[in-house]
Amino acid sequence: MSNPSILILPGDGIGPEVMAEVKKVITWYGAKRDLQFDVSDDLVGGAAYDAHGTPLHDDTMAKAQEVDAVLLGAVGGPKYDALDFSVKPERGLLRLRKEMDLFSNLRPAQCFDALADFSSLKKDVVAGLDIMIVRELTSGIYFGEPRGIIEEGNERVGINTQRYTESEIDRVARSAFELAMRRGKKLCSMEKANVMESGILWREVVTEVAKDYPEVELSHMYADAGAMQLCRWPKQFDVIVTDNLFGDLLSDAAAMLTGSLGMLPSASLGAPMGNGRPKALYEPVHGSAPDIAGQGKANPIACVLSFAMALRYSFDLGEEADRLEKAVEKVLADGVRTADLLGEEGVTPVTTSEMGDAILNAL
Ligand code: ATP
Ligand code: MG
Repeated sequence: MSNPSILILPGDGIGPEVMAEVKKVITWYGAKRDLQFDVSDDLVGGAAYDAHGTPLHDDTMAKAQEVDAVLLGAVGGPKYDALDFSVKPERGLLRLRKEMDLFSNLRPAQCFDALADFSSLKKDVVAGLDIMIVRELTSGIYFGEPRGIIEEGNERVGINTQRYTESEIDRVARSAFELAMRRGKKLCSMEKANVMESGILWREVVTEVAKDYPEVELSHMYADAGAMQLCRWPKQFDVIVTDNLFGDLLSDAAAMLTGSLGMLPSASLGAPMGNGRPKALYEPVHGSAPDIAGQGKANPIACVLSFAMALRYSFDLGEEADRLEKAVEKVLADGVRTADLLGEEGVTPVTTSEMGDAILNAL
């Protein structure tokens, strides 16, 4: 059998800096755990534009379709702000998501004990928090037709259409139930069935899919009530599934329960491939952070935890994913901090690569 394959797209800004630490981790797994991956490297975003005049070369797109997992750093930066929309760095990422048809966006909100004081919320609200938001990523109000700004009488009207087909709801619901099966077997679906037709259909389809997962305890919540509950007592949730728009808002809110952007991984999953595993792209939630790029200040943990998600969801190596997450936990418990994790005076932050080395040591 051939080794699992990974396409690494470091991208721009701090992307290559944090990805360098993930490469060290991958090398460690090869040397110490005898887990060999076929790793290839390519360009995306501004880096691809500089080399090829396009934020994603067709060859890179083709490679992304073939590998078991894509690991992406971040794209964009002020250097590219003036570019035409069609060749903006972000378009490279959007094309990957679209052509790989990555409809299920997984964003964990996990609070490491050592950072519980760092959250803006009370410690007992966030300590030990470990929830996952599944956001539908390829449909809904961001894509529905008709859309546009039209003239009506003597004024203009901005139009977006919330539109979901049964099959679109079905597939993202299934991915959320599958996830719930691997976690706490508890799923909360959020929509606004009280005021939206798409919400009524959403609730119906999710309830139907639930029949295939009798072990999972399903609940429904209106998304506004869900937002409130998420801030009030987030630990009541395990997995949350919701549409594109609500998921955008809820996952950003949930993310900030835990502290720094530099800590947050994500996965975007598509339909199962020949080997039964989903097409997948893993990336930190943060962007290219041009304000700190090139200074060795970036926190590599979000990117490292994204690789942990790849171990779990693309390679079925849940124990190895646990190992990596525990290593991160240990490093934090030992007080190792990059600058973004420091509030108090007097503690010296470590560099990106020192954080990577500390993780390797803990491994
Ligand atoms: P995008 O549009 O790509 O989402 P953004 O401008 O919204 O980018 P980021 O690039 O994520 O946001 O940066 C937001 C802030 O968070 C910046 O001040 C940045 O320095 C900080 N930041 C982001 N990622 C990290 C990281 N890994 N380590 C340390 N600080 C980070
Ligand atoms: Mg942003």
